[in-house]
Order: sequence, then structure tokens, then C-alpha cells
Amino acid sequence: LDLTGRTALVTGAGSGIGRACAERLAAAGAEVLAVDIDEHAAKEVATAIGGRAIAADLADLDAVDAFPAHVDVLVNNAGLQVVAPLPEFPTDRFALIQRVMVEAPFRLIRLVLPHMYDSGWGRIVNISSVHGVIASPYKAAYVTAKHGLEGLSKVTALEGAEHGVTANCVNPAFVRTPLVDKQIADQAAVNGIAEAEVVEKIMLKRAAIKKLIEPEQVAEMVAYLCSPPASFITGSSIIIDGGWTAH
Ligand code: NAD
Repeated sequence: LDLTGRTALVTGAGSGIGRACAERLAAAGAEVLAVDIDEHAAKEVATAIGGRAIAADLADLDAVDAFPAHVDVLVNNAGLQVVAPLPEFPTDRFALIQRVMVEAPFRLIRLVLPHMYDSGWGRIVNISSVHGVIASPYKAAYVTAKHGLEGLSKVTALEGAEHGVTANCVNPAFVRTPLVDKQIADQAAVNGIAEAEVVEKIMLKRAAIKKLIEPEQVAEMVAYLCSPPASFITGSSIIIDGGWTAH
């Protein structure tokens, strides 16, 4: 994969999957714009990969509209999780999750497409989840947002095809990131069991491969979707779940 001369914008680049994507795309030669609400993390990643940091809250849609528009690769990755039963689901958290995980990606796609159309090449990768195709209880906002992102991705693929633009989702199950490490530690403490047991018996109960996915494995798929052999893959959702959704 050679992305020399290409610009890639990655949201949520300060941590986990976003950071791995920023590193992978920079290693392929892209100039990476690392967006994160955590200014320190964005700057740290940008410095490490020779890219540029954009400290911004994606919930601020006016700020998103003002991002650089000359981008060849867009990775919509930033996300957050709130877990609560529906009758008590906080309405402000539901709205925030839709804004960060659906509306901001929409604004970014809308922003960068004119440049991609002009140049006749663009790659949009939306980091969805197994929750973009199946649901789990207590995750109403997250599951709704990921299903919305799937629809947005497919529409982008249909409109972008004649302009050389592909759009796809990548759908991981549990990936070893700071977010998931904390969930494991919390569940181990609550249940009084070892962290390895939480991973195998609770988190990955449905998966065939009882291991967490590494962020680099997700980033490798993102890189593949930007590579020449993937030029025919568009409007797809690439599941990386160790067999989670196979049954
Ligand atoms: P993470 O918490 O490690 O990283 C998310 C990053 O997004 C953080 O750096 C955070 O500061 C940033 N961010 C959050 N809200 C933001 C906002 N409003 N504006 C700008 N930046 C913001 O999470 P992760 O596990 O790497 O998850 C990244 C993406 O992958 C998310 O969309 C998540 O839903 C998806 N995903 C994660 C897993 C998993 O198991 N970790 C599985 C499937 C899908």
C-alpha cells in the first residue's frame, strides 16, 4: 500500500483503534490529520507519526464543518458507549452518541466528497461494530448509531462509485483498547473473578475465537480497503469478530 501524497483524516486518533489506523496509514506514506477531543493524545499521536493534530469535539458540528476538506482517506472512528436499560436511558447521552457517531461522520463525508470527486479517488472507512449488524440489550444509543452508520456508508458507496470513491464499514467485536481494558477490570472486580475469565466466559461467550482482537488487526483491514486490490469493495461491512456473529 502506497499512500504517498495522500491525506488521511482519522477521528478518535488519540487512542485504541483510531491510533492504530493513524499509525498504519502514516506508515503507508499518508499525511495523517489526527482528530481527537483529547488534545494531548491527538498531539502525541501526530508527533509520533509526523502528522498534524486537530483537537476538536465532534459533537460540535460547526467545528467539524470547518475541518480541512482536501482529504483523500477518511476514517470515521471516534465513538463512545453508554450502557443503560431503555426506560432509564439518559436522553442527552442518546442524542450525544447519535451526534458523535452518525451526524459528525455525515458532516465529514459531506465535507470531503467534493475534493474526492474532483480528484476521482477517495476511500471512506467507517468503524462500525458487530453492533452495526446485531443488537445487545442496554446499548440502545450505540446499536442505533452503528446501524445508522451502516446506512450512511452504503448511501456513500452508491453515490461515490462513479467518482472513484469507495465507502465501507469495518465491524469488529471486542478489540483490546483502553476502553475495553477498563470494562474487563470493572467486570472482574464486580464478579470477583480473574480478568482472563471475564474475557473468555462473559465478553467472548458468543465468539468462536476466545481472544480479544488487536487494534492493529482492524487497522490492517482499513489499510487493505485503501489498497488497489480493494477497489471493487464498496458498500460492504467487513466483520472481524472471531466468529461472534456466525451463529
Ligand atoms: P477508545 O476509547 O480507545 O478511543 C476512542 C477515541 O475517540 C478516544 O481517543 C476519544 O478521546 C475519542 N473521542 C471520543 N469522543 C470524541 C468526540 N466527541 N470528539 C472527538 N474525539 C472523541 O475507543 P476504541 O475502542 O478505540 O473505539 C474506536 C471505535 O471503534 C469506536 O467507534 C467504537 O465504537 C469502535 N469499536 C470498538 C470496539 C472495541 O472493542 N474496542 C469494538 C467494535 C467497535
